Amino acid sequence: MPADPVAIARDLIRCRSVTPDEGGALSYLQELLARAGFDVHRAIFAEPGTAPVDNLYARIGKAAPNLVFAGHTDVVPPGNETIWAHPPFAGELAGERLYGRGAVDMKGGIACFVAAALDHLAANGGKPNGSISFLITGDEEGVAVNGTVKLLAWAAERGETFDHCILGEPSNVEALGDTIKAGRRGSLNGTLIVSGRQGHVAYPERTDNPISGLVTLIAALQAPLDAGSEHFAPSHLEFTSVDVGNTTVNLIPGEARARFNVRYNDRHSQSALKTLIERRAKAAAGERIRYAFDWQPSNADVFVTKPGPFTDLAIAAIAEITGRQPKLSTSGGTSDARFVKNYCPVLEFGLVGQTMHQTDESAPVQDLLTLTAIYRRIIEKYFNRGVDR
Ligand SMILES: [Zn+2]
Repeated sequence: MPADPVAIARDLIRCRSVTPDEGGALSYLQELLARAGFDVHRAIFAEPGTAPVDNLYARIGKAAPNLVFAGHTDVVPPGNETIWAHPPFAGELAGERLYGRGAVDMKGGIACFVAAALDHLAANGGKPNGSISFLITGDEEGVAVNGTVKLLAWAAERGETFDHCILGEPSNVEALGDTIKAGRRGSLNGTLIVSGRQGHVAYPERTDNPISGLVTLIAALQAPLDAGSEHFAPSHLEFTSVDVGNTTVNLIPGEARARFNVRYNDRHSQSALKTLIERRAKAAAGERIRYAFDWQPSNADVFVTKPGPFTDLAIAAIAEITGRQPKLSTSGGTSDARFVKNYCPVLEFGLVGQTMHQTDESAPVQDLLTLTAIYRRIIEKYFNRGVDR
């Protein structure tokens, strides 16, 4: 009997695994994978100021190539549970859809790649022609410091090597098969602080209002950062907050701040981007405006998996099963792929993202079956025909 991705997804949804709680989801996978012959490890990571988080690594086979499927069992909170038509942790089936928090992001995706691997093993004497692994974290929707980034380092320390990775995050926009994510923009947060001299609003000549300086610098930093690149849209700097914190009507403040975020493409490294922004501010400030930048540390650097044998293999599998020709996209927010890319080439392909994080999140049963068939085809092609490494 083939593995049933709908039943696995339903069982996972019934685990209340809101970050950072494991909620039984990893234990469920551990048992399922151990029964199929996987070597399963659990690893709990912690750090001062964050909640400890449980993670799972499972592998079957000892030889290369090691094809790893990555994902997260944690989910965002359901919000007001009473407005869900189908309770968020019940895993109800209705109208040919499976409902519940995580149905799309991404317990559904995990259920599909687990089912696909189990089917492949059952059809091939219980062993892959290489190795199949699962890298599953419980810390993706939170601060993401005790999850994939540490799990990868932990695995590397044990001598694990990965050849290619598929991350099962919802990647499709309208229909299953329309989009593979083959890269992500980088993300960088900063604060611009302009200093002035505080004083009475009736005597501006005795003060130096930092707000005018801030306005000048904000205007200067709106200039385009680039015109885009072969695989990416133009980089973009967006101010997210302007703060003076002044509750008084007759006071010119001594300091003004503006927070901003930059989503940047592969024309920049993080440090080159900071230099560019600081240079522009300097030119606009002249001798007149006193300012400083406060950069937040960021582990979200830009990356792209360039088209090649691995992307070709995934595109072919998707086209054969769905009849659609997926495009390679680099749009959207960051994901754990930014950590995986330091170890091996990574692609993101999962369900259709439309209802993720929403009330009554749900996935069509047919999509769960089709996605399982796609993963199964990818695994078959990977091990039976091989891909250039
Ligand atoms: Zn996700």
